[in-house]
Amino acid sequence: MSNEFDHDAVAADAARDGGRDAAWQDDVRAGVRHVRDLDALPLSAGERAAAVQAAANHKVRAPKSYLDLIDWNDPDDPIRAQVIPSPDELVETDGELDDPIGDHAYSPVPRLTHRHADRVLLFPTYQCAVYCRFCFRKESLTAIGRGYTRAALEPPLDYIASHTEIREVILTGGDPLSLPDKALEEIRARIEAIAHVRLLRIHTRVPVALPARVTPGLVAALQGRLMVTVVTHFNHAREITPATEAACRTLRQAGFVLLNQSVLLKGVNDSVEALEELCRELMYQLGVKPYYLHHGDLTRGMAHRRTTIAEGQALVAALRKRLSGICNPTYVIDLPDGGGKVPLSACQAEPKGDGFWRIRGLDGQERDYRESVDES
Ligand code: SF4
Repeated sequence: MSNEFDHDAVAADAARDGGRDAAWQDDVRAGVRHVRDLDALPLSAGERAAAVQAAANHKVRAPKSYLDLIDWNDPDDPIRAQVIPSPDELVETDGELDDPIGDHAYSPVPRLTHRHADRVLLFPTYQCAVYCRFCFRKESLTAIGRGYTRAALEPPLDYIASHTEIREVILTGGDPLSLPDKALEEIRARIEAIAHVRLLRIHTRVPVALPARVTPGLVAALQGRLMVTVVTHFNHAREITPATEAACRTLRQAGFVLLNQSVLLKGVNDSVEALEELCRELMYQLGVKPYYLHHGDLTRGMAHRRTTIAEGQALVAALRKRLSGICNPTYVIDLPDGGGKVPLSACQAEPKGDGFWRIRGLDGQERDYRESVDES
């Protein structure tokens, strides 16, 4: 049975349900959905031509409410940098990869990656509510591009059922929350019917870029036996608005655990002030725990948005002095070839032997620390 979905199909589906979700449908329709919609944006002719060329490598899409956050008078606007194609994307740099974190090498069946024993990535769709220029999966989104079909998920669901070591299923993509409620409910029900699965994780930009899509129907589709963790993807404090606040409140009140992962992006959030405001407001305003700050992946055409690791380490060292532990994310690199996420924070402790350590405090001063343990 063919059961492909795209945004038009999602909207049609919701309309059949009585049009309850009109707000987010209007937001999608009034935004950029195709390259030709770039014509409506206040770009210069040169910028538009470059954007069209860059969009050939990675689709372009952004809801209107997200585009409305852009200050079009600022060519370096941090929201614009995330969604408007740039000619810099056409510059490929040595070492960049089509599959920067090794998804394909760890994919035993299509639409599933099994890199760590207790968890898998499941790709119910390769479509998103917004296409982020820095996305490390952009080549899969472009090459595969397909939405949800029931038939396509049978092999990965069979795989999960036959691997009893799997406890967490991570819906990623593509953006799983760009699917219709009915599809989400069906996927959730199929996963929770597998007894050894304990946790459902949703990795999504929808609460950031299309917050009106977080409706009671969407929440109900995800509620069931499984503990649910929603991992949002805010990269800048300007993305925190009354609408995103309402979306996160709805998800929290549903009993879901909310975490955020950001990508460190040059020209978007690579200053202590930008990261401090982002992490503080995530926790204090949205109730979302800053979880990971990712070093920029080796995505093709993204050299202009990557910092060096040393720059990232200096930023997170400064952040540790300014923010409480609960507001501090862990700075990680997702290693190519499937090496996993590795913390990059500079080590503050050096063994000196005989139970002594030299440890640097938050004030920058080094102190001796003597361990005291019962060795009997
Ligand atoms: S929403 Fe996520 S998967 Fe989709 S383009 Fe953005 S970062 Fe990539």
